[in-house]
Amino acid sequence: MISRSRMRTCFCSASGQILQGYAAREFAKQGVKPGELAVISKEAVAPYERPALSKGYLFPQNAARLPGFHVCVGSGGERQLPEWYTEKGIELILSTEIVKADLSTKTLTSAAGATFTYEILLIATGSSVIKLTDFGTQGADSNNILYLREIDDADKLVAAIQAKKGGKAVVIGGGYIGLEISAALKINDFDVTMVFPEPWCMPRLFTADIAAFYEAYYTNKGVKILKGTLAVGFDANANGDVTAVKLKDGTVLEADIVVVGVGARPLTTLFKGQVAEEKGGIKTDAFFETSVPGVYAIGDVATFPLKMYNELRRVEHVDHSRKSAEQAVKAIKGKESGESVPEYDYLPYFYSRSFDLGWQFYGDNVGETILFGDSDPASSKPKFGSYWIKDGKVLGAFLEGGSPDENKAIAKVAKTQPPVASIEELKKEGLQFASKI
Ligand SMILES: Cc1cc2nc3c(=O)[nH]c(=O)nc-3n(C[C@H](O)[C@H](O)[C@H](O)COP(=O)(O)OP(=O)(O)OC[C@H]3O[C@@H](n4cnc5c(N)ncnc54)[C@H](O)[C@@H]3O)c2cc1C
Repeated sequence: MISRSRMRTCFCSASGQILQGYAAREFAKQGVKPGELAVISKEAVAPYERPALSKGYLFPQNAARLPGFHVCVGSGGERQLPEWYTEKGIELILSTEIVKADLSTKTLTSAAGATFTYEILLIATGSSVIKLTDFGTQGADSNNILYLREIDDADKLVAAIQAKKGGKAVVIGGGYIGLEISAALKINDFDVTMVFPEPWCMPRLFTADIAAFYEAYYTNKGVKILKGTLAVGFDANANGDVTAVKLKDGTVLEADIVVVGVGARPLTTLFKGQVAEEKGGIKTDAFFETSVPGVYAIGDVATFPLKMYNELRRVEHVDHSRKSAEQAVKAIKGKESGESVPEYDYLPYFYSRSFDLGWQFYGDNVGETILFGDSDPASSKPKFGSYWIKDGKVLGAFLEGGSPDENKAIAKVAKTQPPVASIEELKKEGLQFASKI
């Protein structure tokens, strides 16, 4: 058992590939002495921008590879290579899984038996993918049934893409991961079928109108979409490689690769019974401090007060993971110096990119919706959007194909929540409504 000297601040477990990088940057900005800060990660590489894994990482040409997308390049910041951490006196402890956390003795234990003590802990364990083996789906442990969360998963997917070139791929799940991976597989010349049980793709955010555009666009690209059914089993050959996906409606789809994107669960098990939880995550205040003083939770695992909506929420998006990391570090440093830090006041923001498309969403997707702009999937440059209106105010805004200025304009709409006199007028004005705010 290795015993580490007492560290001032320790990011527990990878502290989120993204978070650890962004939080480390904030610590470095605010001043950190050598030996005061350690980042512990199960992954073997320095913090990177996870969204690249389902986008550029899977391209057949000029694919994104590390060190190209270490944080903080995703938000236009400096690319933090491993040397960056050394220069700043931050210890990067990689390939180290924490298997036990004792918040009463402030001790973490790794799978290899090393112990780490800390004064301040930032929990940023993120999420783990939900696997079909979790539900006991028949044949779900066959080879080439793949998932995507970490860089090792992405490497397995890239290897399968190369091994099964031009083959048949089935993507299970119609969320943004399913959509992005289907596009990537199509670009790699696979015969792609998407399967999901809901009536349309991305139902947690997309309206039927928005989804109709993406489904038609994907269909035009040659992606087949099967809705309203699910995978109930898999066939495999003598080597254990998947050969077919059996669907609930009786359909059998041949498959060389299956990629499953059916959601993720926040990784909170290490801390169960030791911190207050809410809505599936670790409950925090507006500074991301948990019910245990000196223990902070950020990113996907945090259930925090979303000030704008006066409600506790958990958000699984990269922008929040970056900003919550910065907020927690400011709060930790503020406590030290006695300087007050404003409460976290977050405007939910989420984006996705696939094929030549790219959308952004800001705010809350509640209430009545309107669609505006050119949502013809056959257009050479489709540009359309939606507003969500509740109690006479615009609370959410979505835009496909927007310029940086147009995206900024819809963000402002979601932030300021302007009143709407006439829904008909709003529909006619479309993007112009945003540019006037
Ligand atoms: C493929 C993919 C594409 C995405 N694309 C987008 C996008 O386009 N737009 C968007 O807004 N969001 C996107 N997201 C979501 C976004 O990446 C996450 O919300 C964000 O990464 C959450 O950051 P986090 O730091 O909380 O957790 P994670 O980034 O999940 O990091 C958690 C880290 O903790 C490590 N860890 C967990 N447990 C332990 C342990 N016990 N010991 C040691 N280490 C541990 C994990 O290995 C991991 O490195 C995407 C996610 C994925 C998987």
